[in-house]
Amino acid sequence: MSQQPDQDPKPLLINGEWVSGATESFDSINPANGKVNYALQVASHAQVDAAVASAKAAAAEPAWKNMLPHVRAQLLVRMADLIVQHGDEFARLQMQENGKVWSECKAQASSAAATFRYFASVCETLGSEITPSRGNYLSMTAYEPYGVVAAITPWNSPLTMEAQKVAPALAAGNAVILKPSEITPSPALLLGEIGLQAGLPPGILNVLTGDGAVTGKALVQHRDVRMVSFTGGTATGRSIGMIAAGRLIPVALELGGKSPHIVFEDANLDAAVQSIIGGIFEGSGQSCVAGSRLFVQASIYDEFIALLVKRSSTIKVDQPEVAGAQMGPLSSFGHRARIEKFVESAKAEGGQIALGGKRPEGSQFENGAFFLPTIITGLDNQAIAVRDEIFGPVLCVLRFEDEADLIAQANDSAFGLASGIWTANYQRAWRVARALETGLVWINTYKQLSISTPFGGFKDSGIGREKGVTGLRLYQQSKGIYWSMDPNNMG
Ligand code: NDP
Repeated sequence: MSQQPDQDPKPLLINGEWVSGATESFDSINPANGKVNYALQVASHAQVDAAVASAKAAAAEPAWKNMLPHVRAQLLVRMADLIVQHGDEFARLQMQENGKVWSECKAQASSAAATFRYFASVCETLGSEITPSRGNYLSMTAYEPYGVVAAITPWNSPLTMEAQKVAPALAAGNAVILKPSEITPSPALLLGEIGLQAGLPPGILNVLTGDGAVTGKALVQHRDVRMVSFTGGTATGRSIGMIAAGRLIPVALELGGKSPHIVFEDANLDAAVQSIIGGIFEGSGQSCVAGSRLFVQASIYDEFIALLVKRSSTIKVDQPEVAGAQMGPLSSFGHRARIEKFVESAKAEGGQIALGGKRPEGSQFENGAFFLPTIITGLDNQAIAVRDEIFGPVLCVLRFEDEADLIAQANDSAFGLASGIWTANYQRAWRVARALETGLVWINTYKQLSISTPFGGFKDSGIGREKGVTGLRLYQQSKGIYWSMDPNNMG
């Protein structure tokens, strides 16, 4: 059976079967109108055990373990084709669960399919290595899967994140247990269904919905889970990392950010302002790489902020399915309350609200978790709203005098995920790019992402690199093999 039955609460996917019977459930809420979408199950410890047991057995099956790379690649390509066929369904599920605007959800569904295609080609073309030997022997490095991988994903971009973990983990030959966020559980279930339709053996992709502290933690602690790939908040990532350290299993942690977006006085101000708006307000700022700390050189500060506020005030906030909507609601009412607290803390620390800072008015916003694009000036780099990750449409603006001052301020952060530099001076662009302590730097652009480029953070922004060829290797362990060429040693 591969078709997900229409049940409430929605079933889990374990060993190729749609399974009910969890004692606890939770509601998925549409943040655009506050209505319940449907209920889902909180996978119990026994269901986690069943999923891990099925994944372990499936990963060990010779048919999966020894599958030739080009055959494995065909499976991934079939999944990509099915994601394209179900693109609208994926986009709708994400939109009604996290409130992202329709155009963005559609783009993320296409990008998920492209990710499967990319890892299909990496799987088919990536070789093992013959390494330089120091004697009469052949030395080789082969790469093997871990076995059972737990993939734990967040609510801001589930379509992208789930593809980014599941595709390379399968390409690498593992079995995967996918645990999506409680806010956005359904795209993962649809991905599980697509895996079955594409021909993945039962148990190779299990999907467990549920509470992070129950289902997610049980997965990370399970003795047969051999690797964890997590994207989410830094506090949760740290707690997962501590469990993994105790179990001596590898983890990939893609965590939060407080990315500096920098404008020098010689920049193309018109292009910079557009990029800054996209960098912070796209997805209502709920992006790990959101350019949430804006640094503007003092000599152009007043002129630039006036332009930024003027342009940002035209952003169309609306119901996510409305044509032309640029910002929908926040992903949940609890998250809006958290953001409102940050805005209050900014005011208490002397910040001035240059734009927004409150909920929009109008009947279409009454029942949803909406918040206006917000720009705050007058804070220093130590203010709570500047230091902590807000993960919402809130831009804190700071000024700098010169390059040295900029680098000191920009690097004075616990995070180190991404940064952006706007300048016409190529030498300065290079110097600053090398000096910034971030895993990703954009020069005269922002949020430009490609599946072929490794992605991940410095400092509290994480450990490990997803995407690119390293994104497949992340899910493999190397094995060194030494083979004597001495005929006397044979037979
Ligand atoms: P979390 O980090 O708590 O959640 C991310 C995922 O981890 C979810 O699937 C969650 O499940 C699961 N999880 C939670 N606790 C555990 C645990 N103890 N063991 C295993 N899995 C767990 O993110 P939040 O939703 O609470 O967001 C908090 C903040 O994190 C945001 O405001 C933002 O600052 C940051 N964040 C960063 C993201 C990024 O892309 N880097 C993405 C999302 C959030 P469940 O949802 O069921 O609790």
